[in-house]
Amino acid sequence: RRMSVPSTQKAVVIETTGGPEVLQFKTDYPVPTPQEGQLLVKNNITGVNFIDTYFRTGLYPAPKPEVLGREAAGVVVAVGPGANPYNFKVGDRVLWLNTTGYAEYSAVPAAKTVKIPDGISDEEAVAAFLSGLTVLTLVKETYPVQKGEWVLLHAAAGGAGFLMTQVLKLIGAKVIGTAGGPEKVALVKSLGADHVIDYRSGEGKDWVKKVKEVTNGEGVSVVYDSVGKDTWEGSLEAVKRKGTIVWFGNASGPVPPLPLQRLSPKCVKIARPMLFGYIETREEFESYVKELFNLLQSGQLKVRIHKVYPLEDVQQAHKDLEGRKTTGKLLLKP
Ligand code: NDP
Repeated sequence: RRMSVPSTQKAVVIETTGGPEVLQFKTDYPVPTPQEGQLLVKNNITGVNFIDTYFRTGLYPAPKPEVLGREAAGVVVAVGPGANPYNFKVGDRVLWLNTTGYAEYSAVPAAKTVKIPDGISDEEAVAAFLSGLTVLTLVKETYPVQKGEWVLLHAAAGGAGFLMTQVLKLIGAKVIGTAGGPEKVALVKSLGADHVIDYRSGEGKDWVKKVKEVTNGEGVSVVYDSVGKDTWEGSLEAVKRKGTIVWFGNASGPVPPLPLQRLSPKCVKIARPMLFGYIETREEFESYVKELFNLLQSGQLKVRIHKVYPLEDVQQAHKDLEGRKTTGKLLLKP
């Protein structure tokens, strides 16, 4: 069964790498045909993630032309040929992780698609999906955070940070968050963070000193650092003896090559994880998704949507995200 599908669609395409201006909004982009193992999904809401900017600038290489967008929620309009082990049907309301979300239609692997349970809206599902799965893998597998431990989380008001602050508090960790500006600081405090530092102004610029003060000179058990270039050195100072630093993003640029001897004095462990490495098998994927949906359905985890941008305003969405103007998640409406 197949719903009627047009041959062309609205999509945002990049042909070269560069600034937000390389994002081209097109109205005559071909609608893909689902291949073996794929579903064709009509996207209702697409997530904007910082990783999209890395592919746009070329920090992460990928063949061009490219349609960005790692996740979306929508409706299955066609099931590709071959086996359909997860029993998707035309009309199913689904959430997928792959690429090409900046478009009305995406052909995506069924293996990386899940049905959205009743009671969770498309917007809520996307706002929690890639970011929330990342957070769960980081606190469970990259470093299993324990109750009562001090944790330092950078960019705590962002898409991933907003969810991570809540998850860390659910675990019972003691959270020190950093964020840029008084509104963001207030937002992170409202989530129950124990200390929040405005790392862009005043005394907060010396956030390492503040972290040491708060932890009686010891430092934190783990640092979750997605800012990278601007914070990596401070993160090495703020971590305690035998602690762990998780570098999981490059919002200010990548962490430069690091001599391993830098880790010796405090016997520090470092990790540089990526979500897709933790959810490669269907079993791993489903288990994290189930946990995420449970947190949403029980009301323990709240999403925050900065703004829903029409697809044609995608350049503005990238400018706002890179300009540090946003809190929570940015969404696109194809
Ligand atoms: P965010 O909404 O968190 O936006 C990034 C935030 O980083 C900004 O709001 C800003 O917050 C902070 N920041 C600090 N320095 C800069 C800078 N120079 N330019 C821009 N922003 C800066 O984005 P996401 O939630 O999409 O992603 C958060 C991070 O997590 C990213 O680094 C992303 O790459 C990473 N990530 C990694 C994954 C993985 O698998 N490894 C998966 C998902 C996300 P402030 O103003 O408070 O400083």
